[in-house]
Amino acid sequence: MSATKARKKASPAPNLIASWLKVQPRIAGAPRLLIALDFDGTLSPIVKHHADARLPLETKRLLQRLSRRRGVEVAIVSGRALEDLKERVGLRGVTYIATHGFDMERRGKVWRHPRAPEFKRVIGQVTEALQWELATFAGVNLEPKGYTLAVHYRQAHSAKIVAGMKAAFWQVVQPLVEAGEIRITYGKRVLEVRPAEEWGKGHGLAVLLAGPRADITKVADRTGAFTGAAQGVLPLYIGDDETDEDGFTAIRHVGITARVGGATKPSAAEYRLASLAEVRRFLEMVDGEMIRR
Ligand SMILES: [Mg+2]
Repeated sequence: MSATKARKKASPAPNLIASWLKVQPRIAGAPRLLIALDFDGTLSPIVKHHADARLPLETKRLLQRLSRRRGVEVAIVSGRALEDLKERVGLRGVTYIATHGFDMERRGKVWRHPRAPEFKRVIGQVTEALQWELATFAGVNLEPKGYTLAVHYRQAHSAKIVAGMKAAFWQVVQPLVEAGEIRITYGKRVLEVRPAEEWGKGHGLAVLLAGPRADITKVADRTGAFTGAAQGVLPLYIGDDETDEDGFTAIRHVGITARVGGATKPSAAEYRLASLAEVRRFLEMVDGEMIRR
């Protein structure tokens, strides 16, 4: 099922904690568990400036405990660059899927999308152009991440600044979008410039599940759903934003998916969690289950 179809049929998704009795047997019965979690807005509270985001100590300890349980792998999935993400989470023994799935690190081994150098070149050109064009807009911050570029405007004070910035932004990117070199995605007060390649957090997750040697053109089908055999692995994915939707699409047919936030947002996720506190509570419940084995 495509993400769009999944969204259309959506009546509000049930709360994951309230559905515990339904998911508990799957979690307890899975030989292996892959707990994949978005970072900003899922584990770490959204802050005014993206550079200030921190992982609460209590959450960090919980993730560490979980990652040490037998048969459990914890993966942090983010749009952030790999080094940035690793530094912010600061845990060994955790898998990092960074830059919307374009690179990842697992047990000290780094995987990168095979076309990474090419992507880097294109994004580098756009970054340079935007650094000039957007320099005069107060409260607009560029976050270059190698294979993608984020333009944050949470700190822009007026609608006029945002409108002006967006006009200047589109003037630069439009020709490259039309030439099929890049595409633009939207998050919470952020515009993201990405390679045109249909690739996201869900594909990163699919590569992780299929293994680093997998043919990347075959890890997901046309709808973005993971196609490989998950060999005894139950994947969980929790995220809060639009860029997490392809993660939900990738694994919703084989795993457990939840979107964080109000029930009003249409989502491909099967469940929802109301807040970061609920994310933590759910992870505590999973951890409690893992202690017993
Ligand atoms: Mg997020």
